[in-house]
Amino acid sequence: MSYELTIEPLGQTITVEDGQTVLDAALRAGIYLPHACCHGLCATCKVQVVDGEVDHGEASTFALMDFEREEGKCLACCARLESDTVIEAEIEDDPDAENYPVEDYSGEVVRIEALTPTIRGIWLKLDRPMAFQAGQYVNLEVPAVDGQSRAFSIASAPQDGQLIELNVRIVPGGQVTTWLHEQLQVGDELKLTGPYGRFFVKKSANVPLLFMAGGSGLSSPKSMIEDLLAEGCSLPMTLVYGQRCREELYYDAEFRALAEKHPNFSYVPALSHEPADSDWAGFRGFVHEAAKAHFDNDFRGRKAYLCGPPAMIEACITTLMQGRLFERDIYMEKFFSAADASQQLKSPLFRNI
Ligand SMILES: Cc1cc2nc3c(=O)[nH]c(=O)nc-3n(C[C@H](O)[C@H](O)[C@H](O)COP(=O)(O)OP(=O)(O)OC[C@H]3O[C@@H](n4cnc5c(N)ncnc54)[C@H](O)[C@@H]3O)c2cc1C
Repeated sequence: MSYELTIEPLGQTITVEDGQTVLDAALRAGIYLPHACCHGLCATCKVQVVDGEVDHGEASTFALMDFEREEGKCLACCARLESDTVIEAEIEDDPDAENYPVEDYSGEVVRIEALTPTIRGIWLKLDRPMAFQAGQYVNLEVPAVDGQSRAFSIASAPQDGQLIELNVRIVPGGQVTTWLHEQLQVGDELKLTGPYGRFFVKKSANVPLLFMAGGSGLSSPKSMIEDLLAEGCSLPMTLVYGQRCREELYYDAEFRALAEKHPNFSYVPALSHEPADSDWAGFRGFVHEAAKAHFDNDFRGRKAYLCGPPAMIEACITTLMQGRLFERDIYMEKFFSAADASQQLKSPLFRNI
């Protein structure tokens, strides 16, 4: 059983399978509807049902209140069709979005590397190339948590869409990340879907780029920087990358080598908990502090791309805005986890995350 879904104002009609959510059907058709948590909690994917019947599924009563249900609103991430339906959504026209459709893939694990004591590099050879934009992520399924998936950003550049790299930080007590660290072997097959996300470089802006990353949040900026350099981009770009200590600072030598080779690329590593008596000569402190010092608290004229845990992102946003960068020039990927599900999912400073 399937139904027809018409998405206004695009006027495009797609097929939605029984049990499939509106959001999943749209993304698989290459139509981007704004969304974030995908669990009916944040309301980013709220759309108006103009005609037809939907089942609201697991939409929370906070994200979709009773009066909104009566007004015909629904959350695209949870709504399933019960008839042919027409919805009206806020569809932004982003000239830099390549809108690749989400598809299912399987990937053979061809390489595993301990990048740090807590981060594992995993290389997957896909059954066919995946078209994606640097900065996007995949949802990975592992046998340990049947039917559930977890988000991981693609750390490699899109030039080779068949061999993708993921950098996975182990979360203490985390089901999937623990399995990926302790059980996964070269030769295993994993299922994944993608590409997801709206975190990509606004290439059309043609202004200097600032990447700020913390922990395994290096994945997306790494993909973006490698992509830009492979394309011969000559705009000034800076990576400010924070880790706790030296043994966690992975790809340090690789970024230093890139900075040597490309005069337009600068690399600023920062360590927040490095022992005081070590011979570390680089910046000591957090990412936002390193960026503030490096740019003398003046970020004007750039676009900033932030990637990492929510607390790091909040600190970076505050610093960037104090350094006179506006909301419209700041883009981010927050590594939300189950820990954030019960907390506030939206930055108080931003409407669209
Ligand atoms: C868009 C996106 C991209 C991401 N990209 C990456 C990536 O490239 N690399 C990467 O390592 N991670 C990334 N993450 C985070 C990653 O998805 C989570 O770490 C993962 O879902 C944890 O799954 P789990 O099954 O191990 O933990 P769960 O079993 O789901 O959680 C176990 C416990 O740990 C807590 N927890 C879960 N995750 C975290 C966390 N990250 N920090 C602190 N506590 C946590 C939970 O609240 C729970 O109490 C990304 C997240 C998002 C949303």
